[in-house]
Amino acid sequence: MTVRKKYLLAFTPENANLPVIAVLVQKFGIIPNIMQAKVNERGGRLVLDIEGDTESLEKAKAYILEQGVEMRELDRHVFRDEWRCIHCGACVSICPTDAFHVDMDSYEVRFNPEKCIACEACIQACSPKAMKLELW
Ligand code: SF4
Ligand code: SF4
Repeated sequence: MTVRKKYLLAFTPENANLPVIAVLVQKFGIIPNIMQAKVNERGGRLVLDIEGDTESLEKAKAYILEQGVEMRELDRHVFRDEWRCIHCGACVSICPTDAFHVDMDSYEVRFNPEKCIACEACIQACSPKAMKLELW
């Protein structure tokens, strides 16, 4: 059965050089779509959208976890209730993936859900409760 899932991979300095994309493609026949990449020799994270058959995906996950790379499914979705947002900016600096920015023409805070990894930090920081979590 073919499935499509989104994953966050977190690297440490010890495994930051692991060629994850090449391994997924060549060893397991999985084609990942890279949604975010912030990795250097000190570690970092990748967000991948993966489509593949269930068995290959499970084998690939086992391999990656064996290398000490954290691999977490992003099965949560954070969205903004536009009616509640007062554009206070409290969420902008705490977001680890820069999913918010201030539009300098309108001074309104824009939210890009494509960059979100559902860490939930903005949900805690948003006093008007505009940021909400949805479980898939
Ligand atoms: S913290 Fe909440 S109200 Fe303030 S800008 Fe962000 S989403 Fe809008
Ligand atoms: S949940 Fe985390 S990653 Fe997503 S927008 Fe909020 S602070 Fe950014």
